[in-house]
Amino acid sequence: MKYVFGPVSSKRLGQSLGVDLLPPKSCTWNCIYCQLGKARKFVTERQEFFPREEILEEVREALTVNTGLDWITFVGSGETMLYKGIGWLVAEAKKLTNTPVAVITNGSLLYLPEVRQELLQADAVLPSLNAGSEVLYELIDRPAAGLTFLQHREGLKAFRREYKGRLWIEVMLLGGINDTDAALNDLANVLEEIHPDMVHLVLPTRPAPEQEIRLPSDERLEQAIAILSKVAVVINPLKGNMDLRNAPDMLEAITAIVSRHPVQQRELHKAVADCFPGEAQKADDILSELFASGRFGLVEHNGEPYWVIQKGENSGFSS
Ligand code: SF4
Repeated sequence: MKYVFGPVSSKRLGQSLGVDLLPPKSCTWNCIYCQLGKARKFVTERQEFFPREEILEEVREALTVNTGLDWITFVGSGETMLYKGIGWLVAEAKKLTNTPVAVITNGSLLYLPEVRQELLQADAVLPSLNAGSEVLYELIDRPAAGLTFLQHREGLKAFRREYKGRLWIEVMLLGGINDTDAALNDLANVLEEIHPDMVHLVLPTRPAPEQEIRLPSDERLEQAIAILSKVAVVINPLKGNMDLRNAPDMLEAITAIVSRHPVQQRELHKAVADCFPGEAQKADDILSELFASGRFGLVEHNGEPYWVIQKGENSGFSS
């Protein structure tokens, strides 16, 4: 499949069928922690990158073979809301199934009324807010010219006023950057104005090609939870747990997931081993064979090996 991948399993969204709407890397930001590396150039013009009917047809097909989904999640190899017509896709997907639909976005375009309008039918929207000040916004998110912190903050506030679904804000907590008391208090002030239903703290557990990003210490993470919990319900970041047991084609699922973001070797091994209980050697054999195909490489991050897709293979990523 070209646009649909998974289902992937996460603590936040359970079993989720992903729909990737963009050519990599199409983004309004160039975050320092981005797994896609540095953008060749920013994309700020919204467009229908691929025919919407083609995407919907893949969603329809995937729904016939994947049952027991918790979410359909629209993501992008960049900023999801750059896809013009996402509102139509959300509405049409909801006609196909009772499975709720989520949209992951960096939120940078929410200052535009037409962008907010396209999201109103989603069951959950997960925008990013990594900074509570212009200075840190510029440092972390590195937006395209013309996109300001004020627009970002006011866009989130306007969306909250108009949107009746679940608004779950994602905060990427970066060691030594936005985990100081001052940065966290600034974030809390902005979150208090937005009134999200929840705040999902997330950690830079995957390698960023452009520069080494540090995890916050346990003490800083606890402090972040303590400060942000004063103004919002905060979800403690938990490690992802990939689950391949329901994947119709395990090898295709692994390729699709690794092509979208690096996957910790330990997590991948456990996910494959879980498919073959009692067959201790099986996961080793499958992963060795897959690695020998030459489609994957290994990189190290925080002392852990991660699988990545080799250049020239399909690659992409969500915010
Ligand atoms: S992390 Fe997401 S929002 Fe940030 S540059 Fe990468 S794709 Fe864009």
